[in-house]
Amino acid sequence: MAAFGSVFMPKMALATFENNQWSEASIVAADSIQLHPGAHVLHYSSTCFEGLKAFRHEDGSVHVFRMDQNVKRLAQSSRLLSLPELDEAAVSKMILDVVAEYAEDVPTPPGSMYIRPTHIGTEAAIGKAAAPTATSMLYVLLSPVGDYFTGGAKALRLLLEETGMRCAPHMGMVKSGANYASALGPIFQAQESVQADQILFCPNGDVQETGAANFLLIDGNEIITKGLDTCFLHGVTRSSILTLAKDLGMTISERDITVDELLERAAKPEVEAVLSGTAAVLTSVGTFIHNGKDYTVGNGEPGPIAQKLRQALNDIQWGKAEDKNNWLTKVV
Ligand SMILES: *Cc1c(COP(=O)(O)O)cnc(C)c1O
Repeated sequence: MAAFGSVFMPKMALATFENNQWSEASIVAADSIQLHPGAHVLHYSSTCFEGLKAFRHEDGSVHVFRMDQNVKRLAQSSRLLSLPELDEAAVSKMILDVVAEYAEDVPTPPGSMYIRPTHIGTEAAIGKAAAPTATSMLYVLLSPVGDYFTGGAKALRLLLEETGMRCAPHMGMVKSGANYASALGPIFQAQESVQADQILFCPNGDVQETGAANFLLIDGNEIITKGLDTCFLHGVTRSSILTLAKDLGMTISERDITVDELLERAAKPEVEAVLSGTAAVLTSVGTFIHNGKDYTVGNGEPGPIAQKLRQALNDIQWGKAEDKNNWLTKVV
């Protein structure tokens, strides 16, 4: 099985922004774009992206999950990066059109079609270090993916990092390439020095998120996760899981949580900790590493509540449970 996200459909949807307006979108060969080496994105990182999925149901129909949320977030990222303003309806149509083009290729569950809308600054202008790009390109790339957990789910080791940050605080809500590059150095170092899988960034003891996923603590009937502020990425999976957990009668506490409280709660045998994101839905955390010491979370294994919540979300995505919140958009 190819690595997640390494296989692409041969065509994508494309629109360009020039002379202050968006072109009509078209479906083009995915490897057909040209970029000037002086393009704004290549020097000043004027780039943002989204990750969402289309699912195949048992009757053969194909549905995109919470597209409105991802399109809204892409428009927000574009705005915060001073990229040209998006037309959300046009972006939604590009997504639906390209998924429709490849409806036959959408894998059956637990696989799906991963959708990667991307917006980049294309103006050839290396003098614009402190000015926005005048032109841009928006494309929607597709990548069929299998089960994220082939080989079984294993609980992760997370380094609690209290000094470094994932990205500059005003960039937290932007799903932008540079944020990932900025987190890579610390993550590699944590992998080498303490065999951590990921870093949970907790500047000054404030538990935020990892390099590419949100963090939730499950303590019995309560889920505790940081309330929405501008320092971290507001995950669609996070919001969906909180909605489903509330429906299941759980208490949702969206508030700040400190490293001290996290370690204290992690010592309880029934506690679970999870990372949330579109690719894997929920991934369990088995160990926190803090100041050179390992702290087992609950019993150190993937827990039953994470499993139940992941199943509840998958059941809606896969058409096995009622879509009460209208999260699915039917493509074909
Ligand atoms: C994409 C992302 C998430 C998860 O968002 P989802 O919408 O749930 O996929 C969380 N944190 C960061 C930094 C991300 O890039």
